[in-house]
Amino acid sequence: AEEAAQLRKSYMGNVSGEDVPLPIGSFEDLVTRFQFDSRLLSNLIESHFTEPTPIQCEGIPMALHGRDVLACAPTGSGKTLAFVLPLLQQVIQSRKNEGLKGLIISPTKELASQIFKECTKLGNKIFLDKKRPLSIALLSKSLSAKLKNKIVSDKKYDIIISTPLRLIDVVKHEALNLSSVKHLIFDEADKLFDQTFVEQADSILASCRDPQLRKTMVSATVPSGLEEIAQSIMLDPVRIIIGHKEA
Ligand code: ADP
Ligand code: MG
Repeated sequence: AEEAAQLRKSYMGNVSGEDVPLPIGSFEDLVTRFQFDSRLLSNLIESHFTEPTPIQCEGIPMALHGRDVLACAPTGSGKTLAFVLPLLQQVIQSRKNEGLKGLIISPTKELASQIFKECTKLGNKIFLDKKRPLSIALLSKSLSAKLKNKIVSDKKYDIIISTPLRLIDVVKHEALNLSSVKHLIFDEADKLFDQTFVEQADSILASCRDPQLRKTMVSATVPSGLEEIAQSIMLDPVRIIIGHKEA
């Protein structure tokens, strides 16, 4: 606990919530503390991620403990990996379950495609069983058309990354069922929950019917409205704010 306090001080981390899990000091901690998938760890090393950034030190163990998280850290501080890595581990651990398990929402197509790239790089060559590779998809225009025309089954995917409107459209057409989703992540949540998007975010939340749905909001800024929304839709959330000296 002393070490954790030192670590938090070193990156000006402000963490609040009940029973907050300890941060990790290195990616190796994931192996000793969580039964971390070895293939996932080697993909991490192959991607030249050697040391976790502060938001990763805090965010990864919280997600792996199944906590709802509101995470705020500056642009460029590695927030994507902070939510993608635990999600991949959790999906691998629940490999027996059929259907969509993880859903990542991004306000723009460009950002969704960046998240998709990072996800596929880390999820590369991982098999959920002998014949079934971990399946991650970007909800593109063409995938959306294939789902609507039943050319592909929506049960095929473990993780989907999408913008709000495209997702809502396929759900409305009953081309994608969100009832099996266990992990819902809003990236750039300050944008997703602002006035233009909030109805869409609410509609997505309503379509994810698992009562134990784990929710994560990631953002570079936390407007006061966002904090309130987080408190209202999350269960015992942990809040992580990584300060930066310039701020
Ligand atoms: P944010 O979402 O916080 O703005 P990103 O997740 O897009 O930041 O990450 C910014 C850059 O930092 C990316 O190029 C990413 O690959 C890199 N990065 C993330 N985590 C690490 C790490 N642990 N070690 C080295 N580079 C990292
Ligand atoms: Mg980002």
